[in-house]
Amino acid sequence: MRDVIIIGAGPVGLACGVEAQRRGLDALTIEKGALCNSLIGYPTQMEFFSTPELLEIGGYPFSTDRYKPQREEALDYYRRVAVTEELAINLYERVEDLKGLDGDFTVVTEDGTYRTRKVVLATGFFDIPNRMGVPGEDLDKVTHYFKEPYPYALQDVAVIGGANSAAKAALACYRNDADVTLIVREASIGDTVKYWIKPDLENRIKEGSIRAFFNTTVQAITEDALVLDTPDGITEIANDWVLAMTGYKPNYEFLQRFGLEFQDDPARTPIYDEGDTFESNNPGVYLAGTVAGGLNTSRWFIENGRFHAEQIMDHVAERMQEPAPVSVVRET
Ligand SMILES: Cc1cc2nc3c(=O)[nH]c(=O)nc-3n(C[C@H](O)[C@H](O)[C@H](O)COP(=O)(O)OP(=O)(O)OC[C@H]3O[C@@H](n4cnc5c(N)ncnc54)[C@H](O)[C@@H]3O)c2cc1C
Repeated sequence: MRDVIIIGAGPVGLACGVEAQRRGLDALTIEKGALCNSLIGYPTQMEFFSTPELLEIGGYPFSTDRYKPQREEALDYYRRVAVTEELAINLYERVEDLKGLDGDFTVVTEDGTYRTRKVVLATGFFDIPNRMGVPGEDLDKVTHYFKEPYPYALQDVAVIGGANSAAKAALACYRNDADVTLIVREASIGDTVKYWIKPDLENRIKEGSIRAFFNTTVQAITEDALVLDTPDGITEIANDWVLAMTGYKPNYEFLQRFGLEFQDDPARTPIYDEGDTFESNNPGVYLAGTVAGGLNTSRWFIENGRFHAEQIMDHVAERMQEPAPVSVVRET
């Protein structure tokens, strides 16, 4: 019987592992992919918008000569923390289900079962892309994960979306000689696009280097074209590749299996004790990091989500002082 099982070895899951260990808790982290699997899926050479000290966990200094660290540096940093702390982590093992009650849970994975008193869900939001729901979305030329611009040189590339990821992908492809068309559902580039990226993109659109359609949605995707619904009517444009930067969402089906309930708000926010213990409506199950924001995936990120770890582990450690529940065996 473990004290606590943490599901997900992203930056916040690792912070939880460190804080659990510092409180003398017997903790295990289970991760379905590699260490920091989501960060591995981010664009190569991607630059964080946070300065390094705001990404630190466990008090370990994140030193870099850059003002904003790159993905590769963050991967190095979080791995070093995990190794230095000798965190117990099972990698490439997907968690599938949860059985039992507070004090005596069984975590079910693809490889086996683990008993634990408490569970922390630090599963992030990066696994399920928001689909457009249009014909052709499953063609091989469509991706919701942009890695790097090089495959798209001298090709007709459509970038769909008006937020940071779309802005960065469009600029990177343009600077690597792709013929870029940006398709934005709204009337303009989003206000959430970082202040150093937005004018760059707007100026490229203004000078005609990147073609942009606003108030426009994709109607269909074919092998060599895109059908768009624009303010001027239905238009077809030539297309080789689609980068659908339409965002991601947490896996709600998975969260429901953990007994979670959700608020009746547009973000379908999980019910949990925000700002204090981060315990969910299901006693003994905690939410840490981005997953706690539901569909509002920018509510919690590394900068602010890393602090969940201390609050959760303080509460878990406090609860460990209480006597373990006695199993009731019914005689037949
Ligand atoms: C391009 C980009 C740039 C960003 N830049 C910044 C920035 O500058 N600053 C900042 O603070 N934030 C930034 N963010 C946001 C930040 O990366 C996320 O908020 C952060 O990854 C959240 O950490 P997490 O540990 O909550 O979740 P994640 O890092 O997503 O980790 C969740 C982990 O859970 C695992 N998992 C999921 N389901 C299961 C399962 N069933 N079983 C086992 N494991 C499972 C996943 O594989 C994953 O490794 C950026 C995001 C993107 C996409």
